[in-house]
Amino acid sequence: MNAITFDRSKAKFPIPEVATSFIAGRALPSDGTGERIPVICPATEELISTLREADAQEVDQAVMAAREAFAKGPWPRMSVDQRKKIMLQIKQILLDHADELAYLETMNAGISTNHVRNFHVPRMGFNFEFFAEVASQDSGAAYLQTKPYLSIVTREPIGVCALIGPWNAPLALCSMKIASAIAFGNTCVLKPSEFTPLSLLRVVELINQTDLPKGVVNLVNGRGQVTGDALISHPEVDVVSFTGGTTTGRAIASRAGQNLKPVALELGGKSANIVTASANMERALNGSLLAIYSNNGQQCLAGSRILVDRKIADEFVSKFVKRSEKIAVGDPLETKTEVGPLAYEAHMKRVLGYVDIARKEGAELLTGGGRHTEFNKGFYMQPTAVMAKSNDARVCREEIFGPFATFLVYDEIDEAIALANESEFGLVGYVWSEHLPTAMKVSQNVRAGTIWVNTPLTRELRAPFGGYKNSGIGRDSAEDCKMFFTEAKTTTIPLEDFPMAKWGA
Ligand code: NAD
Repeated sequence: MNAITFDRSKAKFPIPEVATSFIAGRALPSDGTGERIPVICPATEELISTLREADAQEVDQAVMAAREAFAKGPWPRMSVDQRKKIMLQIKQILLDHADELAYLETMNAGISTNHVRNFHVPRMGFNFEFFAEVASQDSGAAYLQTKPYLSIVTREPIGVCALIGPWNAPLALCSMKIASAIAFGNTCVLKPSEFTPLSLLRVVELINQTDLPKGVVNLVNGRGQVTGDALISHPEVDVVSFTGGTTTGRAIASRAGQNLKPVALELGGKSANIVTASANMERALNGSLLAIYSNNGQQCLAGSRILVDRKIADEFVSKFVKRSEKIAVGDPLETKTEVGPLAYEAHMKRVLGYVDIARKEGAELLTGGGRHTEFNKGFYMQPTAVMAKSNDARVCREEIFGPFATFLVYDEIDEAIALANESEFGLVGYVWSEHLPTAMKVSQNVRAGTIWVNTPLTRELRAPFGGYKNSGIGRDSAEDCKMFFTEAKTTTIPLEDFPMAKWGA
């Protein structure tokens, strides 16, 4: 692809010409070693920046900065109240730059500015406030049962955290990783996706303008096989928190396993969205459209397999198709846009490839199925829906990760539950029903980490989020993040003198 050069005078906020690493409080120079990787705006195909990849030496520099800040710096030793004050400064500085961060995210990831500004940016700010509260309210345990001993259990920061994120929601997802890691006194090195380095580079710069000690939050940019691999293999990394695809998750877990590093994996999904005959049709329709098409269809928790009761299937599917055809696809910087472009060209081609796969498998194309014809440039795709022949079809089994809905029709709720569970994934599940026993039956029998009843995409940060089966290992929540990012320590003290063997006396 020949990228078009971007006219910088058009930019609403500055975009760095070269995105580098940010280590120990400063951005590294643009003229260092490392591959140059084009950073493309998916809406216009313009070259908006160049990523200078961090090699193993640069990754070492970042990890050692985090190690130094952990071993000798004030952050792990500060009172939680002092840490909380700084976490709230971080929240504030990020929200003060909300428009700029949303702009960078939209320009780089193609997510509509409305969605980023209304959901991802507030969530990013809240992540820092939430984990500051969680850490400040934490307490230990005391055991007096075994006399004459008092055993107290405290939790200590685990050390240097490698945080690796995907391109589909960089601000929302990686801010959660940073906040949950540092709130408990850790230091970290973040590696964003090589496709979307821009917003997070600015986040880390801004974080470093607060009173946070230098070296606590560092960032390296580059591809997974180079920069990511160097990071997770580094002996001074204590723990790896990863969000991304299932295949990558497997590679990362086995790599980390060689060094006995704990890993948390938030991976892919192919979640069932069960629309029952007892659903409120209008709400189920609105929710199902959001569940598959929001964030340009690129979300792990998408309701991408829509299982609809035969009694309402014709009506529901025809309404779904009509609404899909009216979705405002367009420039993600425009506030009226509902679906923007896919994040990068190869990904768009991969998603479009599933249209052919569906056809070959005998699926019926209900709507969409091609690039959007209105645009000469940009990775725009029509919102697409197919009716599959059976759950064995690849479009029912594989994560497509785009604005691509797959329908199946069922007759009994037990059949719907069985179909939902016939999947290698188990991230989330949706059910639409006004009949409580039906909704509860689905909730209790679908093997997924989160079940949404009559609502799409709601995240409660206090409650666990994560996947069954190949959708991941571990959970995100107040308690789960505390367990993951801290080590437990038991200290035992006798409260009175006690008889002890006197060897050699
Ligand atoms: P990906 O797995 O290709 O890449 C994710 C990150 O891992 C990137 O930063 C990449 O550079 C890095 N990486 C790749 N290979 C690596 C290696 N060998 N060593 C170290 N790092 C490596 O995923 P993606 O395409 O960026 O994101 C899409 C995927 O993420 C989808 O499958 C989606 O479901 C998943 N996802 C899951 C969640 C969740 O919470 N479960 C949230 C968002 C996205």
